[in-house]
Amino acid sequence: MICQRIRVSGVVQGVGFRPFVWRLANELALTGWVRNDSRGVEIEVCGAVAQVNHLLQRLKDDAPPLARIDAVVARETATEHSAEEFVIIESRGGRAVTMIGHDTTVCRDCLSEMFEPAGRRWRYAFTNCTHCGPRYTISRSLPYDRARTSLKPFVLCNKCQSEYRRPDDRRFHAEANCCPKCGPQLTLLNAEGQLQSGDPVAAALKLLREGKIVAIKGLGGFHLACDARNPAAVAILRERKQREEKPFAVMLASPPSAASFVQMGVGEPGLLSLPERPVILLKKRNSCDEALPGVAPGLAWLGVMLPSTPLQYLLFHEAAGRPAGLGWIDLTQDLALVMTSANPGGEPLVIDNQEALLRLSGIADAFLMHERDIVTRCDDSVVRIAPGGVQFIRRARGYTPRAIKLPHAGPPVLAVGGWFKNTVCVTRGDEAFVSQHIGDLDNAAACSFFEESIGQLLKFLQVSPEIVAHDLHPDFHSTRFAADFARQRGIRALGVQHHHAHAASVLAEHGVQAPVIALALDGVGLGTDGGAWGGELLRVDGVGFERLGHLVPLALPGGDRAAREPWRMAAAVLHQLGRGNEIAQRFAGQHAAPTVAQMLERDINCPQTSSLGRVFDAAAGLLGVRSVMAFEGQAAMLLEGLAERYGDILPFDHGWRIENGCLDLLPLFAVLADEKDAKRGAAIFHATLIAALADWVHAVTPGDGTVVGNGGCFLNQILARGLRSRLGAHGLHLLEARRLPPNDGGLSLGQAWIASQHLVKRKK
Ligand code: ZN
Ligand code: ZN
Ligand code: FE
Repeated sequence: MICQRIRVSGVVQGVGFRPFVWRLANELALTGWVRNDSRGVEIEVCGAVAQVNHLLQRLKDDAPPLARIDAVVARETATEHSAEEFVIIESRGGRAVTMIGHDTTVCRDCLSEMFEPAGRRWRYAFTNCTHCGPRYTISRSLPYDRARTSLKPFVLCNKCQSEYRRPDDRRFHAEANCCPKCGPQLTLLNAEGQLQSGDPVAAALKLLREGKIVAIKGLGGFHLACDARNPAAVAILRERKQREEKPFAVMLASPPSAASFVQMGVGEPGLLSLPERPVILLKKRNSCDEALPGVAPGLAWLGVMLPSTPLQYLLFHEAAGRPAGLGWIDLTQDLALVMTSANPGGEPLVIDNQEALLRLSGIADAFLMHERDIVTRCDDSVVRIAPGGVQFIRRARGYTPRAIKLPHAGPPVLAVGGWFKNTVCVTRGDEAFVSQHIGDLDNAAACSFFEESIGQLLKFLQVSPEIVAHDLHPDFHSTRFAADFARQRGIRALGVQHHHAHAASVLAEHGVQAPVIALALDGVGLGTDGGAWGGELLRVDGVGFERLGHLVPLALPGGDRAAREPWRMAAAVLHQLGRGNEIAQRFAGQHAAPTVAQMLERDINCPQTSSLGRVFDAAAGLLGVRSVMAFEGQAAMLLEGLAERYGDILPFDHGWRIENGCLDLLPLFAVLADEKDAKRGAAIFHATLIAALADWVHAVTPGDGTVVGNGGCFLNQILARGLRSRLGAHGLHLLEARRLPPNDGGLSLGQAWIASQHLVKRKK
């Protein structure tokens, strides 16, 4: 017989850990107790040595699905009480060094209950348990308990109460527990906001099948939904949302239901079923555009997600004819729904019922909503499979507020990100908490969401930052906020160069502390010389960096407009090739073409940029793929789609020059300017660009080693894949972002990591 005191740290509160320990202890005939305290979970057990060891092992091996065990530390103890049994005892106070859990999809056990016609939760849209359901999006503050969530107004009925109280129940301490008798209810409202009679799910499905647009309340905000197979409905949604060409994501019942639209490689069906339920970008089948016209026009990828909330499952269940049990889910189901964020005008997602009626008026024909408030706005996450894990395009629901472990601990830091696709980051100890995707800080609503997110992270984490990091750009809302924040708190504000931050973001998540070479392939970021950078080769050494080289700059005729109009970039290239006289004729459809030719000729309003994003635009403009973009990154995405369809091609060997550490792609442009087949041109462009970039990196970094690659261009799969193998052939390993997006959504982590190292260095 021995007695041990065991401390478990990690994510162990609010995830069903105590009942799990209770069950284990009973099974192993151990006595003692378990409790929550400020550092995690503490256990005391007495029993046979073998059984106690068994418990220690199984704490790690069999932990509940939402738990994350960082450490289990045990020491022998003399027990104070000779207990006869194992009990869960009162939590011990003190501020928990913890964080609200993330939202997860409804679990199989809860689904079984929802689809059991005789059960008390038959078709109940708010079914959840300790192992599943909402957390982050319904929590107002810590510690996580019902009174601090949006379930507060709903008083548990006797049956729910007894589930909540029984350690052997799946809903022991399930703070969001409820049932049709005591919990929130669904309602369907028409466009005028009037309550509709009848079953809300059945009526909503009927409207969807009639080609109507229905606003549906999700976990972190409203979606706008329509029948993805109905081209008229998709067109109406585009028109009303003023989203002419941007791709929509589609919700399907299960991986088999997705198989006819997209190709799934090894691991990808499993990816669809991740409990975080992100949108997964999958390669389209040839038949996809015909089956889902207008959903993701011209692109090689389709965003697919499975239902994550009980309500979403109910729609598919209704479409399947309300079958009993779970069998139907894994059969091919016909229903395909466009599910797009309800964020009119690019503003933050709609989360409140009244707000939905107001802001979505004129867009939605009906509203499927309910009484459980969304406290924290959280968009859908978007990922795709990539070598060594997933690649994030957008990190939000299901992933935030999970921490990213830093290589070492430091004082608390706030980093405010940049401008586009912004996130913010707060560190505590050796953990970095990156906010959900906030969006572009180009409107007042997004700016207040940005400030709210900072306030909320600081409140949840209970830290007071000792430094605030921001971008070098003085006009960003985030930069101005950082300056005010620093002044008010009497702390330092640290400007971090954009591409240095991109590189540091990858270093932070992979725990790399040695100096490395970094390749930043990006849209644009302000350089230390005041220039517009975006195709940079850097040597990064902790808080410092050196610009080893960059792309030979291109002119931006008309400044910012050139970043939205690829034909202008093409004109800039023609001018550089000494073929400026072709501009007016080649772009005759653009009435500004003669003016642009003159601007280039006289170097008026033509700032320069070393951005690789603009190189993609120039190529798309030269090949006639796109003259003016409907959304950011469109030209590059279309170009990728064309190259993907063309297939492999050899690079044009004389397509680039390297001089003084800089990469000049002008010879490649000369070829593209005369290429008549856009598909072939797109393929030559990608193949040559990859060879050129790899050659460039190799020229600067002879020998083996790691090259960090980051920036928005790494979302291009042909580029990322090609660079990885081409650099590999030179003995160089490409290290990419895997826990955050490579685009500006990952900037805040890089800024935070540089600021943190700054503080640590200063204190030494
Ligand atoms: Zn569950
Ligand atoms: Zn109840
Ligand atoms: Fe960037």
